[in-house]
Amino acid sequence: MSVTLIVEAAAPIAPQPSLPELKTSLVGLDRVRLAEALTRIGVAPREAKMRVQQLWHWIYWRGARDFEEMTNVGKALRRALAEQFTLDRPEIVSEQVSVDGTRKWLLRMPRKGPHDRGAEIECVYIPESDRGTLCVSSQVGCTLTCAFCHTGTQKLVRNLEASEIVAQMMVARDRLGEWPGHSPPEGTIAPTDGGRLVSNIVLMGMGEPLYNFDNVKTAIDVISDGEGLALSRRRVTLSTAGVTPMIPRAGEEIGTMLAISLHAVRDELRNTLVPLNKKYPIKDLLDACRTYPGVSNARRITFEYVMLKGVNDSLAEAKDLVRLLKGIPAKINLIPFNPWPGTNYECSDWEQIERFSDIVFNAGYASPIRTPRGRDILAACGQLKSETEKLRARARLMLESGVGEAGMFAANVE
Ligand code: SAH
Repeated sequence: MSVTLIVEAAAPIAPQPSLPELKTSLVGLDRVRLAEALTRIGVAPREAKMRVQQLWHWIYWRGARDFEEMTNVGKALRRALAEQFTLDRPEIVSEQVSVDGTRKWLLRMPRKGPHDRGAEIECVYIPESDRGTLCVSSQVGCTLTCAFCHTGTQKLVRNLEASEIVAQMMVARDRLGEWPGHSPPEGTIAPTDGGRLVSNIVLMGMGEPLYNFDNVKTAIDVISDGEGLALSRRRVTLSTAGVTPMIPRAGEEIGTMLAISLHAVRDELRNTLVPLNKKYPIKDLLDACRTYPGVSNARRITFEYVMLKGVNDSLAEAKDLVRLLKGIPAKINLIPFNPWPGTNYECSDWEQIERFSDIVFNAGYASPIRTPRGRDILAACGQLKSETEKLRARARLMLESGVGEAGMFAANVE
């Protein structure tokens, strides 16, 4: 099998004064920021509203890549826009396609200044027969240090801006050919139900979305806007490790479905698995779930529970889980642990996962076992970014042995 590896030199890159002109991309901006951009190039405030409407249609409904496509925008304005702005998406550093059709993109955000290399994040597309789910990142790295999560071993670099969250969906739709007049490239594995290719979004990539509340909120406003990307909030799931005080606001102001990374039924264990629990213990977290705005049997909360052999997978814990969730419209997603280099945890035995699932199911809760997807390309839960790390180490070795140059370079390996 031939894969393209993109490797990054580990040595710090010297400041690069020759930044290409930093034109701002309009892609991912909300209506307020689009209006500001127009005012900046001299469009009168009265006119700006109508122009925003036009740009919105071209950018988010049609996926335009060039201002010249915008035939109902006058030539002079098109030229002015092109002089000051772009319709660029984040750069796709690499794209990996799993045998199961899962796609993982490593994206590099535009550089913000001479010392910035351009933050890198990962984004994963998971096609199933009845849906296509895009797993989106909300931060570069993560602060939470959950013991079993590889993403958590990387330090937080920064919050993603709202536009950078939206841009992940734009890239996915570009690559899947999901714009009017376009079609998926040959060989694309896509949902077979005739529905949208990106039909669902889960904020389950890198980062803790409730630590980047305002940007996540703005991004979901853009994504769910009926005149553009038009993805219903009910098809968006925000996953949190349990930033309890923000949960009511998430329900009121963002209004997506909610998922909680629970993973343990006792505070003592959860403190070690999800250190955030020391701040916001299980009881308080579940109280916030009970009163989550909009929660009902039709809008259940998903509880994620990673299956760790001999750690949290006993049948007594399954029974405790059922007791704990009493009164909360819930479904429980059992996630087989995805191992990564250097971890001491192991995935529970399959029979144990099934027994655990049976107990939860017999108590009246849906308890699907999440099929690991894209494991061959390290795209499964908690594996994001790990390949990049590994490749960095490899790049370092190559540099030390005199192969390659500082900066970015790509190697094709068999
Ligand atoms: N910070 C948010 C968003 C990340 S979602 C949150 O914690 O909910 C990613 C999901 O995958 C979380 O439920 C996380 O706990 C889980 N996960 C992390 N590492 C994993 C691994 N190695 N195997 C299986 N699931 C993992």
